[in-house]
Amino acid sequence: MIAKNQEYIIDIIGMTNEGNGVGKIDGFTVFVPLTAVGDRVRIKVVKVCSSYCYARLEEILTPSPDRIPVDCVAFSQCGGCVYRHISYDSELRLKQQQVQDAFERIGGIDTDYLPICAGERIDGYRNKSQYPLAVNTEGKPYAGFYAMRSHRIVPCDRCLLLPDRFEAIKRKILKFIEENNISIYDELTGKGLIRHIYLRHAEKTGEIMVVLVCTRKRLPHADRLVEMLTSDPDIVSIVINVNDKNTNVILGESCFVLYGKEQICDILCSNKINISPLSFYQVNRDQAERLYEIASCFAGLTGSEILVDLYCGAGTIGLSMAKKVKRLIGVEIIPQAIENAKENAAQNGISNAEFICADAAKATKMLLRRGFQPDVVIVDPPRKGCGESVVRDIVLMKPEKVVMISCNPATAARDCAMFQEQGYRCVKIQPVDLFPRTAHVECVVLLEMIK
Ligand code: SAH
Repeated sequence: MIAKNQEYIIDIIGMTNEGNGVGKIDGFTVFVPLTAVGDRVRIKVVKVCSSYCYARLEEILTPSPDRIPVDCVAFSQCGGCVYRHISYDSELRLKQQQVQDAFERIGGIDTDYLPICAGERIDGYRNKSQYPLAVNTEGKPYAGFYAMRSHRIVPCDRCLLLPDRFEAIKRKILKFIEENNISIYDELTGKGLIRHIYLRHAEKTGEIMVVLVCTRKRLPHADRLVEMLTSDPDIVSIVINVNDKNTNVILGESCFVLYGKEQICDILCSNKINISPLSFYQVNRDQAERLYEIASCFAGLTGSEILVDLYCGAGTIGLSMAKKVKRLIGVEIIPQAIENAKENAAQNGISNAEFICADAAKATKMLLRRGFQPDVVIVDPPRKGCGESVVRDIVLMKPEKVVMISCNPATAARDCAMFQEQGYRCVKIQPVDLFPRTAHVECVVLLEMIK
C-alpha cells in the first residue's frame, strides 16, 4: 500500500503535459514535479489517489542528461515555466511528442507530423505581463505571479520570459502605490483598489502600454503616476481597467485612458496592428509571424479565394493574408478587438476585408443562412476549441480547406476528429513553440475536403 509521506527511489520515465515527471512505484503511477526523463530520484509521496499518486522530489541521485542549471529562483513555485531545468532541445522533443500523442490518442488521427518550429529566443520573448498584487506581512505591496492552479501569489523580482524593462515599470508603480497609500485588492474581502498591473510591449515600434486593473475608475493621485511613468517616452498609453467583480477573470469590461492613446501599435507580418487592452494579441511576436506564415502556407492561397478568419482577434491572421485573397471575413466576439481589426485593415490600405463582431457559432449560422461559401476557413479558437456546432457549420459551408490553429492540442484533436467524421482529411500538423519554457504548445493543422 502506498501511503502519504513514504519515501521511494524511482526512475523518471516520462513527462505529463503539465511538465511533471512520471515514474512507477511497483507499477503504480507517480507524478513528480521538477524532475526530468532519465533522473533517478528519491521522492516522498504527498497525495494518493485511486490509480496514481503525487510525490515531492527529495533528492536527485542520478541526474538526467537533459538537465541544465535552473536560473530562476521562483521556478519551483511560480505557475509559469515548467521546463527551466531541462535543455531546450529536450523540451522541444517533449512538445513534439505531446502534440502527436494528443492527435493520435484523442483524435485517432494518423497524419504527417512536421517537426516543431522552435523559438529563436527562449527568454524575454513575452510582450505581455499581468502581475497580481498583494501586501506582505510588513504591509508593503508586492507584485508576483500565481502559483500553479492557485491564487497564491509567488513574489518574483525578475521574470526571465519578460522584457527587462517591465521590471523597472513595475517597480515604479509599486513605489507610487506605497508612497500614496493606495490600497491593494483583497480577493477574500473584496476590498481594496488595485488588482493587477498589466503591461504590454509592441516590440517593433517600441510602444508600451500600462494598464492598472482597479475596482473603481478613480485612482487617487493619478497625475503623479502619469508623471512618474511618462519620463519613459516609450510609455504611450496609460489606462485604468475597471473590474469590480468577485471573479478570477483578470480584466473588466471598461477602460479609461489616463494618459496618451487608448491602444498601442505594433508591426506584425508588415502590417501596422493597433491593440487595445481588451484585444487579444499573440504574446510571442516573432513566433506569431512564423505561425501565421505556416498557416498561410497550409492555406495555399492564390488570390482568388474567399477566406474566413474565425476567432480573429484584432484581425492579425487574416490581414497578414489579405493580399493573397479576393475577400476576407473576420469574426470575433470582443467588440474592442473588432474595432482594432477594422482600424488595422484601414491603416494598412486593405479594402477587401470585413469584420463581424459575434460569437463564432452564431456567425457561422448566419453566414450559412446567407448561402456564403468560403474557399478557406482559418480557425484560431481559445483553449476550449471550436466545439461541435462550429465544426458542423463550417463543414456545411463546404470550404476546400480548413486551417486550424490551436493552443490546446487536446481540444484541437477532438475538433479535427469531428472534421474527419464529416468528410475532411487531416493532411498535416505542425507544432509551433510559442511559449518556450512553459507547458504550452501551439499547433497548425491542415484539413482538406475529401472529394
Ligand atoms: N487569431 C487571433 C486571436 C486568437 S485568440 C490572433 O492570432 O491574434 C482567440 C480569439 O477568440 C480571442 O480574440 C477571443 O476573444 C476570441 N473568442 C473567444 N470566444 C469566442 C467566440 N465564442 N466567438 C468568437 N470569438 C471568440
